[in-house]
Amino acid sequence: MNVQPKARDTRAARPLAGRVSLVTGSTSGIGLGIARALAEAGSEVVLNGLGTASEIATTKDQIEADYGIKVSYSAADMTRPEAIAEMIAAVIAGHGQLDVLVNNAGIQYVAPLDQFPVEKWDAILSINLSSAFHTIRLALPAMRQNKFGRIINIASAHGLVGSPFKAAYVAAKHGIVGLTKVAALETAEEGITCNAICPGYVYTPLVEAQIDGQARAHGISRDQVIHDVLLAQQPNKRFATVEELGALTVFLASDAAVSITGIALPVDGGWTAH
Ligand code: NAD
Repeated sequence: MNVQPKARDTRAARPLAGRVSLVTGSTSGIGLGIARALAEAGSEVVLNGLGTASEIATTKDQIEADYGIKVSYSAADMTRPEAIAEMIAAVIAGHGQLDVLVNNAGIQYVAPLDQFPVEKWDAILSINLSSAFHTIRLALPAMRQNKFGRIINIASAHGLVGSPFKAAYVAAKHGIVGLTKVAALETAEEGITCNAICPGYVYTPLVEAQIDGQARAHGISRDQVIHDVLLAQQPNKRFATVEELGALTVFLASDAAVSITGIALPVDGGWTAH
């Protein structure tokens, strides 16, 4: 029988034990999937995002119970730089450090450019792009002090290619890919990495909302929207899952990914191979 030393078993099962991770927009969808994966890998987790107090408390308690790690929550609104500053300060005060920063909070709005509501443009740019500028600039001093940091930006296939009617989203996601490269270059010698994950369509509430909207707009069924509209560009014809994105985030946060920095990695079933 091949018996491994216990310490090695523990390290393999919980590669992020002793780490502290903050995931913005983690009360739902991809962010919640990533928060769960980080917790399963042994990291303490700070949740953030919108939702009712009771739902958020249930989520927090569940993750704590499932994985036996400390979980806290910040209600910081990603449109407000001063709230973001309070959140980063609270993470470091409450957990002692910040090792893994996942910039995931995001919203979508679809309209032709000449009809795109100015307030939607401003909201998308501030939540999907500027919030990451603020979290990164505020987290870097603590990461530099510890000579360790993993910054993972949840961009999109729309950070690499465009689609009609998504002016603000595509602009913000291309912007975060650029921000990723600059952060990677400025931190390359300091034990810190910064990478972007570029998912194609992932089945989450954000996508669910688009299915109904597009079905109404085009007068077609939900199945037609899924196959002919949403997955039209996605060659493997399946939604990626939040678990797949969680596993990739855990890998990028691990010691094994130390040489990977400044990339924008598509997880899009071949979409951007076109
Ligand atoms: P979602 O709507 O399920 O989750 C979005 C999260 O962001 C929620 O927790 C929400 O509360 C939070 N949020 C929204 N506005 C906020 C604010 N002002 N302050 C703080 N938190 C706020 O969406 P999702 O599909 O899980 O998307 C998560 C990220 O992944 C987004 O950046 C999105 O652009 C990106 N993405 C999603 C897909 C997809 O197919 N679902 C594909 C590519 C990229």
